Amino acid sequence: MAQVDRQQWDVVVVGAGGAGLRAAIEARERGARTAVICKSLFGKAHTVMAEGGIAASMGNVNEGDNWQVHFRDTMRGGKFLNQWRMAELHAKEAPDRVWELETWGALFDRTPDGKISQRNFGGHEYPRLAHVGDRTGLELIRTLQQKIVALQQEDFKEYGDYEARLKVFQECTVTRVLKSGSAGGSDAGAEPRVSGVFCYERETGRFFVLEAPAVVLATGGIGKSFKTTSNSWEYTGDGHALALLAGAPLVNMEFVQFHPTGMVWPPSVKGILVTESVRGDGGVLRNSEGKRFMFDYIPDVFKEKYAQTEDEGDRWYEDPDNNRRPPELLPRDEVARAINSEVKAGRGSPHGGVFLDVSTRMPAETIKRRLPSMYHQFKELADVDITAEAMEVGPTCHYVMGGIAVESDTAATPGVPGLFAAGEVAGGMHGSNRLGGNSLSDLLVFGRRAGLHAAQYASALAAPPAVSQAEVDAAAAEALAPFHADEGAENPYTLHQELQTAMNDLVGIIRREAEMAEALERLRGLRARAARAGVEGHRQFNPGWHLSLDLRNMLLVSECVARAALERTESRGGHTREDCPSMERDWRPVNLLCRLVEPAAGDGPDADRIRLERTRTEPIRPDLLALFEKDELAKYLAEEELYE
Ligand SMILES: Cc1cc2nc3c(=O)[nH]c(=O)nc-3n(C[C@H](O)[C@H](O)[C@H](O)COP(=O)(O)OP(=O)(O)OC[C@H]3O[C@@H](n4cnc5c(N)ncnc54)[C@H](O)[C@@H]3O)c2cc1C
Repeated sequence: MAQVDRQQWDVVVVGAGGAGLRAAIEARERGARTAVICKSLFGKAHTVMAEGGIAASMGNVNEGDNWQVHFRDTMRGGKFLNQWRMAELHAKEAPDRVWELETWGALFDRTPDGKISQRNFGGHEYPRLAHVGDRTGLELIRTLQQKIVALQQEDFKEYGDYEARLKVFQECTVTRVLKSGSAGGSDAGAEPRVSGVFCYERETGRFFVLEAPAVVLATGGIGKSFKTTSNSWEYTGDGHALALLAGAPLVNMEFVQFHPTGMVWPPSVKGILVTESVRGDGGVLRNSEGKRFMFDYIPDVFKEKYAQTEDEGDRWYEDPDNNRRPPELLPRDEVARAINSEVKAGRGSPHGGVFLDVSTRMPAETIKRRLPSMYHQFKELADVDITAEAMEVGPTCHYVMGGIAVESDTAATPGVPGLFAAGEVAGGMHGSNRLGGNSLSDLLVFGRRAGLHAAQYASALAAPPAVSQAEVDAAAAEALAPFHADEGAENPYTLHQELQTAMNDLVGIIRREAEMAEALERLRGLRARAARAGVEGHRQFNPGWHLSLDLRNMLLVSECVARAALERTESRGGHTREDCPSMERDWRPVNLLCRLVEPAAGDGPDADRIRLERTRTEPIRPDLLALFEKDELAKYLAEEELYE
């Protein structure tokens, strides 16, 4: 029996990025004793890396903006696969969340008349992204952290203990969501409910359990399953896997966003993001022949909204009311595919990308003021002065639109009472493709909602569900398994590299049936080998051990991506199939759910773990449909939906 410390809380939030911190603040303000747990140092979450801004229709730069326009843009960007109620709540509530940040101390860039400044971004009809230079995520996290500290100071005054009602466990990893009613527990057979999380300290390896009736997963994305990615080390799909293992489904995991502009050179920095603000502020894409090729790639559904000539596109920056936007500002999926095609056609840059140029578009001083991080990033990492020469850029795995299925209003996961999810780990909001800036607003809108409903759920329970010792023992044994690998143990780093290669090459930006089938075959082999992943030494300071545990999550999530991608025989948003190149209206109302399959007796470790299920999306509410022209809807909706 494992001796494991236990603590009791009302709400546990897993993840201290924008979604997790906003959830924790809300839960604590609603009276719940709240614990936040995160893998990195407090304040170091992936959200810190967000550059361009946070989308909210405040209408500060163009008064034409409002929630309806933002909703329309979001639905178009997601090619109408979005969970429309989430897109509605998001568009309506994002401005309040930004103003709230300001009252908590966030210092946004200003317009000349002193309002919060807003910048252009791909797919947004109006300048909509509130920003702090190109370091918006840092300001967002700094502000939320400051708010947490302020709440802790209030608690100190009342209880003499800063952490009485809000505590952060940093540099700790959650490996299991625990549930009551599980085998071996005193309440076996009762309706299973969330009862807490099993965790370990990364530095010491010490195990502990946080008991709580409500758990909010806010663990971010999955990018570390791909070789070329803009994502940080934390993005190993933990929350996605924790939810699957707890019995919750993931939705539409085939949709992975490849951001069009990552660095391509030198190799050590390949994948690092080049913010979309570069194009929002006037940067243009050219191929090796010097051509602004994006004019050749405007798809039919967007033809009326984008400039057809360079002159018109350039005039739009000064006079957006009388000109159409340049196609460099098409949604990310379109731009990424176009770059891919140019490189494939032999018109790429020397290192396999294309050229992104601001140097001929703005004075050097303006570039340094508006894009300070980009200036330093290229100077320091690639020895390129972006005020004097073009950057080389290419697609990089950036964001996952698929995620834990949630109820739109409450962020609760269906079928697992007590489990909530918010932020990048949750699915549905962005449909098949996320617009830039819509993640930071998503984190705040749904982080707040998750915290609110988790607190309400916890306070409504008569008694917290019990954590069984059997479940704790099983979680401890699972976590210790890599120390007991036999002779012939597999190296977790080798397995990780092979996984990244398989996902990048076979389930990447352009997909083909045979390659995805091959990916699933390779994943089977990797699963069998990962069951033998072994590490030496002990639990203190052992990154190989951490990776062995992360592999379980990356393999589960990768199987979801590959399986769903193989099933969806169309191209839409962040899922492009060379063998099924068009967007099919009949697929519009179809959601693909991934569920975990319990291994049958006699199954080996390579057995498939994921079962797919098709569900139909709820019909879009008529007043929301009325925001679009019928002609436009006809391009997206299935025939029967048009007449419902
Ligand atoms: C370079 C870059 C720039 C971007 N710029 C923008 C932008 O300008 N605008 C925009 O809207 N979006 C942007 N995005 C996307 C956006 O930053 C992310 O989608 C968003 O920050 C995700 O926030 P989150 O709160 O969901 O997760 P995160 O901020 O990633 O936080 C996840 C948290 O979960 C913790 N965690 C994970 N697994 C575990 C575990 N097993 N146990 C305990 N803790 C765990 C992590 O330690 C971390 O604290 C950008 C992304 C990148 C990579």
